[in-house]
Amino acid sequence: MRASPVRGHVEVVCGPMFAGKTEELVRRVRRARLAGLDVEVVNHALDERRGPGQVASHSGLSLEARTASDVADLRALLAGRSPDIVAIDEAQFFGADVVALVDELAASGVTVLVAGLCVTFDGRSFEPLPTLMATAEVVTRLTAVCAVCGGEATFHQRVDARDPGDPLAPAEAHVGGIESYQARCRHHLTAR
Ligand code: ADP
Ligand code: MG
Repeated sequence: MRASPVRGHVEVVCGPMFAGKTEELVRRVRRARLAGLDVEVVNHALDERRGPGQVASHSGLSLEARTASDVADLRALLAGRSPDIVAIDEAQFFGADVVALVDELAASGVTVLVAGLCVTFDGRSFEPLPTLMATAEVVTRLTAVCAVCGGEATFHQRVDARDPGDPLAPAEAHVGGIESYQARCRHHLTAR
């Protein structure tokens, strides 16, 4: 049997907020670099939690990254580069156009690692992740821990201190600002 040639492919890491998507992306990037591979890490400009130039997890793991505001920006950033792996975090912010770019990169021999939210804060499916999941060679679907019952959280929702109807309105639910998010299982998702 002939050894299969090295070819580009797509790996998707998806789930709700707090599922460990960024941790998993950081783990794969570090591992690839240990193997001597050239990895370009890109984050969306909207993710400013640690300032520009980083992907950062909720647990404090981080990695240097280039920052792009849209797909055109992402293309410009990759122009003239031929890395072994392109790792994109917060892919949902790049919108539908990122699907074509991911396909092109994989066709040209690049391994594309794409992490992002596949659900919105009100429990709906969030493109482009579902489309990317449909054609990726590898899909890793992660869950978080439900903030109410400790069960498998496939959703997250906004917890707003100004919402008197929210049973979780106390201040401890709002670390980091007026608006924050919690992981929720389907039984405790109240935002949909
Ligand atoms: P994502 O990129 O999917 O939002 P991160 O990789 O940034 O997730 O963060 C995952 C980390 O978040 C976990 O390892 C844990 O330390 C922390 N965390 C905080 N709240 C939760 C939760 N409800 N469920 C799981 N992990 C949580
Ligand atoms: Mg993340």
